[in-house]
This record gives sequence, structure tokens and C-alpha cells, in this order.
Amino acid sequence: MDIRHYTVALNVDPVQQSIDGYTEIDLKLIAPSNVILLDLWHGLTVRQVYVNGKKESFTHTEDDLLTITGSKPFATAKNIKVKVEYGGLPGVAVKPPWTGGFQWSKDEHGNPWIAVTCQSEGAKIYFPCKDHPSDEPNEGADMIITVPKGLSVAAPGLLKKVTNSKTTSTWHWKTNYTISNYCIVFNVGKYTKITRSYTSVDGNKIPMEFYVLEEHADKGQHELEILERTCHVLEKYFGEYPWAKEKIGLAETPHLGMEHQSMIAYGNKFKYTKVGGEDFDWLLTHEFGHEWWANKVTNKDWAHMWIQEGICSFGDALYTRELEGEQSYLKRMQQTARNVQNVKPMVQGDEIDSDQVYQGDIYGKGAFFMHSLRFVLGDSIFFPTLKKLATDSKYTYDNFVTSDDVEKLFSAASGKDLKPFFDFHLRTTNKLEIDVKQVKEDQYKITLLNFDGTLPIEIVADGKMTKRDIDKTGITVTSKAWPQIDPNVYYLKKVILE
Ligand SMILES: [Zn+2]
Repeated sequence: MDIRHYTVALNVDPVQQSIDGYTEIDLKLIAPSNVILLDLWHGLTVRQVYVNGKKESFTHTEDDLLTITGSKPFATAKNIKVKVEYGGLPGVAVKPPWTGGFQWSKDEHGNPWIAVTCQSEGAKIYFPCKDHPSDEPNEGADMIITVPKGLSVAAPGLLKKVTNSKTTSTWHWKTNYTISNYCIVFNVGKYTKITRSYTSVDGNKIPMEFYVLEEHADKGQHELEILERTCHVLEKYFGEYPWAKEKIGLAETPHLGMEHQSMIAYGNKFKYTKVGGEDFDWLLTHEFGHEWWANKVTNKDWAHMWIQEGICSFGDALYTRELEGEQSYLKRMQQTARNVQNVKPMVQGDEIDSDQVYQGDIYGKGAFFMHSLRFVLGDSIFFPTLKKLATDSKYTYDNFVTSDDVEKLFSAASGKDLKPFFDFHLRTTNKLEIDVKQVKEDQYKITLLNFDGTLPIEIVADGKMTKRDIDKTGITVTSKAWPQIDPNVYYLKKVILE
């Protein structure tokens, strides 16, 4: 089954904390079947299911499966339109954005302020879908959300229209881009829209829109200035902003934040530090980086989620490099190395669920791995290849990536077999063990103990730094004192002095 499009049309009632309406799913079957399986949280009540306009029978069970059985097999030739009418009380977020669901919050003036997050739970918590990262709706999604009059709805894509009744407003948002299920969400609040125009690296004018709470309207323009600077840096390394035909979007949320495509959830309360003398909002930069790493380049299975979080976090460090230079970037990566936990490998299999994969190392160790790879390959190969990963159609939009895809791309670009290097860092918790042994008064033998292959390593001997290729057979250096190994910290390592 291949999902082509979703339309999520819901009435949202902040008083009852309920939703009610329908979802339409356009899909293709690759083989004829009279059964269609969808995921939908069992706490919601399905009233009726139609397939191509015809009522069909269904079961909706405790295991969150909606099983639709047709009276005869559904054809494979063209799109099948499934309409599910449903409603009820959606799951409430326990600890958003990490443990998601609906967050029925209020702003300082008591107005409803509603956010939906479901990165780990999946969009099935509130609409019927095929809940796996490997099947995005290739033709995009429509969201038609009705709220009490006076509130605004912020969602992915472009706003098509707002229809008002006496007591309600219906906001129709539409994206034509492929989109992850957990990004098909909306935010509701007493918002003001702050706008700005962005000119992309390819010269396209892209509208910037910030749906900020009215009470914070005065902070909106400055936040967009920061976002504009961030976008210029990320475009330099990763290519043009991925949703240039629609918008750069930001919505203020009662939770910390999430990478919702073309409508980033922002809840860092306008707290800044300084990078390069400019206001820096770490949360904004990180979530916005996910427009490339997660939303445009998407892992095929949760098992490879380090690609989204690790490379995105590496992008955060590149922002520092761009504004403050290489030394600041190195310092940042040294701090990252100190925080690596190495309890579980970043990749623990090929198909595992999101809870199993989620751990701190997919961020920091993932970023540090890119830093090591950069050192091994050199900038002239590393940066263009990283940009290729973010821009080549093979890896982006409708296509998905695994750790093997990333390894093969960098191996091909460098002419080196990087599989041992990738496996060592992604699939084990080992650190490189580097043995230094004094063999004469002024001679030291340096050997790589636990890695099959050669790695370039910086060595300082007699105050002079050299970059040497080292493997299990080792090299000998002359030095009056013990040589320093990898002083800039390009590797996670253990140095053994004998
Ligand atoms: Zn992230």
C-alpha cells in the first residue's frame, strides 16, 4: 500500500477537549486486496468508513488497528479514496514534545492554546494513517481545522482560505510536498502573524511567517531575523531551504519545540545566548535544521534516526563555525565528545521502534561522528558530499535513507571503504584504542589497537603537529617527551600509555 495524500478535517472543541470530523486517505494498492489496514488510536470512535464513496465494514481494535473489509477486492489501477468519520477525546500529551498527544493549554490571558505533538507516538493518535516513516503522502496533505472564532490555526504548507461562521473559523492549510506523518499537525492560539521576506541561496523569495501569541507580538520580528541568519548558514552547507515554494513557518507553542515541516513548533520563550556577537536561539536553530535533516532527508526506519538527529546537531555546530570560526567549532565538538554516553550503539538493528532507538547519543555522538568523518575525508570531499546527501533526489523528498546509504555515498565520494569506520561508530559503543609505547629514550611507537584499517591521526612531537596514517602495525615517532595524540579531539578515543 502506497499512501498518496491525506486530508484531515476536524472540529476542535477546546472546552470539551474533543475532536470530531473525518480523514480522507488517498492510496494505491500494489496488489488487489479486499482488506485495507490503517493505524488509529483505539480511544477514538470510528462512526463510518467509506471506500470510493461506498460504505464498507470495519473493525477498530485495542491494538490501534482499523481493518476495513471490502465486499469485493479493491483495484490496484488507480487511487483508492478511504474516508473515515470519527471523533472523541484524543490522547492528552503527558510530557510534550517527548511524550506527545494533544496539549490543551492556555495563554496568559486564558485563551485556548493548543498544540499537537506525536513524533514518538505517531500521527495515529489523532488521525487514521499508515504509521511508518517509510510511507509519506507523496502528494502532500490538506488540513481543514475548525476552531472557535477569534482563534487562529497554524499548520504546514500554505493557507488556502479561512471560512467564518457565527461562532467558528475554519482554516484550510495545504501542502503539496511529501511530509512525515508526525508533521501533519496543527497549532491553535490567539495568534498574530508576523511576516518577513527571505531570499534563498538560489534567489527565490520565500515568505516567512511567525504565528506568535498576541502577547508576544513585539518579539516576533527579532525571532525572524535570527531565523533568517540561521537559514543563510544552513543553506550554505545543505542547499536551498527545502520548502521554497511554500513558506518558512514558525508557530509559538506551549511545549519546547518540534521540527514540524514548514511550521516549526517554537517554545523556547525567546531566550538567547550569544554566538558571534549575535543573539542565538539554540532551539530555533536545531528545530529549523530538521527542515533538511528529518523533513527533507528522512530515515527509512526509526533504526537510522541518528541521521536526522545527529546530522541536524552537526548543523548546529556548523552554525558556530560559520559565525565564530573553526576554533569555536572545535571547542564545541570537544564538549560534545565529553557528553557521549556510549551505553547503547546508535544503530541497534535495521527495523526497530522509535522508543528503542531514542537516546542522547543519536544527537551528540551522531554529530561527533560527522566531525570525525570530516577529519578522515578532508573538507574538499566531506562538505560537497554532505551537501549531496541533502540535495540529490536519490536521498530526499519522496526517497528515504538508511545508514548504509550514507556510508556508500561517502565511500564512493572518497574512494575509501568506509564500512568499517561506520560500523565501528554506529553499531558498537567502542572507543578507538590508541597505544603509545616508549621504545627508546626519545622514541615512541603509536599503534591503533582495535580498528581494522588506517586512520589519519594528529600527533604532536617536540612541539610540532603532524597528521599521520596509523593502523594496527603502528608508527614510530621521535620525541623528547611523550607525544600528544589527537589534541584537537577528532576521535572518541582511549589513549593507553605504556
Ligand atoms: Zn532534533
